[in-house]
Amino acid sequence: MNTAMNTPELPAREAMEFDTVIVGAGPAGLTAAIRLKQLAPDKSVVVVEKGSEVGAHILSGAVIDPIGLDRLLPEWRSEDTPLKTAVSADRFYMLGASGALPLPAAMMPPLMSNHGNFIVSLGDVCRYLARKAEALGVEIYPGFAAAELLFENDAVAGIATGDMGIAKDGHHKAGYARGMELRGKYTLFAEGARGSLSKLLIERFALHRGREPQKFGIGLKELWQVAPAQFRKGLVQHTFGWPLDNRTGGGSFLYHYDDNLVAVGFVLHLNYRNPYLSPFEEFQRFKTHPLIRGIFEGGKRLCYGARALTEGGFQAVPKLSFPGGALIGCAAGFMNVPRIKGTHNAMLSAMLAAEHVATALGEGRSGDELAGYDAAWRASPIGRDLWRVRNAKPLWSKFGTLAGIALGGLDMWTNTLGFSLFGTLKHGKPDYATLMPAAQCRPIAYAKPDGKLTFDRLSSVYLSNTNHEEDQPVHLHVRDRALQKSSEHDVYAGPSARYCPAGVYEWVEEAGQPRFVINAQNCVHCKTCDIKDPNQNITWVPPEGGGGPNYPNM
Ligand SMILES: Cc1cc2nc3c(=O)[nH]c(=O)nc-3n(C[C@H](O)[C@H](O)[C@H](O)COP(=O)(O)OP(=O)(O)OC[C@H]3O[C@@H](n4cnc5c(N)ncnc54)[C@H](O)[C@@H]3O)c2cc1C
Ligand code: SF4
Repeated sequence: MNTAMNTPELPAREAMEFDTVIVGAGPAGLTAAIRLKQLAPDKSVVVVEKGSEVGAHILSGAVIDPIGLDRLLPEWRSEDTPLKTAVSADRFYMLGASGALPLPAAMMPPLMSNHGNFIVSLGDVCRYLARKAEALGVEIYPGFAAAELLFENDAVAGIATGDMGIAKDGHHKAGYARGMELRGKYTLFAEGARGSLSKLLIERFALHRGREPQKFGIGLKELWQVAPAQFRKGLVQHTFGWPLDNRTGGGSFLYHYDDNLVAVGFVLHLNYRNPYLSPFEEFQRFKTHPLIRGIFEGGKRLCYGARALTEGGFQAVPKLSFPGGALIGCAAGFMNVPRIKGTHNAMLSAMLAAEHVATALGEGRSGDELAGYDAAWRASPIGRDLWRVRNAKPLWSKFGTLAGIALGGLDMWTNTLGFSLFGTLKHGKPDYATLMPAAQCRPIAYAKPDGKLTFDRLSSVYLSNTNHEEDQPVHLHVRDRALQKSSEHDVYAGPSARYCPAGVYEWVEEAGQPRFVINAQNCVHCKTCDIKDPNQNITWVPPEGGGGPNYPNM
């Protein structure tokens, strides 16, 4: 360990040197760490994680395709792992306001089948991966957010964790501690969808040049313990249609697993147009459908949370490598949208990147560009997985739910046979640019929650166990307050109060004037505000490490 002086007025920051630094202990970060140690056991690997423990910030469906795990840890099937429920039945419905039309499995392209997949808590899978990584000698530091990029000669040279103990007004409290520098020959960014440092890297190295804009959805999820009579172990059910109108993309998932657990969630595409739309309330409304509501009778809601996911697919994946590091997993955006699966590709991309890092370290290199990793992914199983579904999202966005899904299904079939009638379609606008002025839209009336099946935001956030040190600078940066009022409020009627799944943003009247209030302590780190604010006026930065949700098993 050595010390390094950087900013004169601040105390020196300690620096630690590693062969590889990894940001984020999700499936991508932990897989990369394990693969590196498998290939180069004598090289040092550190993983930083902003959650209070591994898994605390992980929220997913999740039905996972085990292709990544099979390649990484072939022994997993003979071990005690959190993958205890194999998918036993797969249902797909189109919902109307009171009815449901089942879509026969034979209509679905084979790539949509969940046969051989497992229903899991992804947080628990990450805890299992973390144990494996630590057994191989990986150092994992939960409770530390990577807050700053370190550069040397324009190459990434590692990260610095955030300072701890800064008060809301900026003064240093008793117990103030400077962040740490974690310096690496290579740094892998595994921050998941809309990673805060990954976003800076994409801009700095123009990694998005020549690509379609990344697209996103917001996924909201509840975990329920249901009455035994309602439980169908291994059942996977998806719906689209109601309660969304034909122009708004999204749908639900419902997975029965382990002991009477049902993961229910709703994904809403963030290219929606009506600023009055509330993803949270649409999710609550979805649960009241006659096909759905009975499942939760006599059950208990255990947990709640939300997280953005990437939807841009093949044509939106940025360049992955830059001097000194690379993007892996959903920080790059390898989510397969129609399959609602990204974990397998997160793991495969992490293994691919780790293999290139191990080779580079073995050759004594450091800080250069892992161009071979970027060159390899399209011809790998990741590229093949994403290529076949590349038009599903653009067709949905362009033609609406009914025609878009039908055309997307046709395109996935023809791609399975090796051709497409559409070539490669574009996504069009980034999600922040799709909102229409409120004056051109109709307000949406949502029913009051009943407290049994449907809930309000605050009682929901309570179940995410979210906790932030209250006396710290607000981690949601509003660049221009006047613009927030003149545009977000006056033109778009304050959509942040509706798209935020945690009730962080409010417009309150004070002396006849609207005032923008940010309840930052409620933030569940979903990143939706960073994506959807119509002026890109809100930037999410990591709060003090360890803050945020504490998901037990999401
Ligand atoms: C609602 C929903 C349902 C989904 N359903 C499925 C499904 O059924 N099957 C499937 O395969 N996939 C599903 N996905 C997608 C899947 O969850 C992702 O593809 C996968 O989690 C990506 O893994 P990752 O490691 O890249 O990122 P993440 O899982 O997001 O992990 C990133 C980690 O990095 C940490 N981190 C981020 N920034 C920093 C920082 N600056 N400093 C320190 N730590 C940081 C985070 O706290 C987190 O622990 C779903 C996603 C959502 C939101
Ligand atoms: S403040 Fe932003 S990141 Fe936090 S919960 Fe709300 S929308 Fe998500």
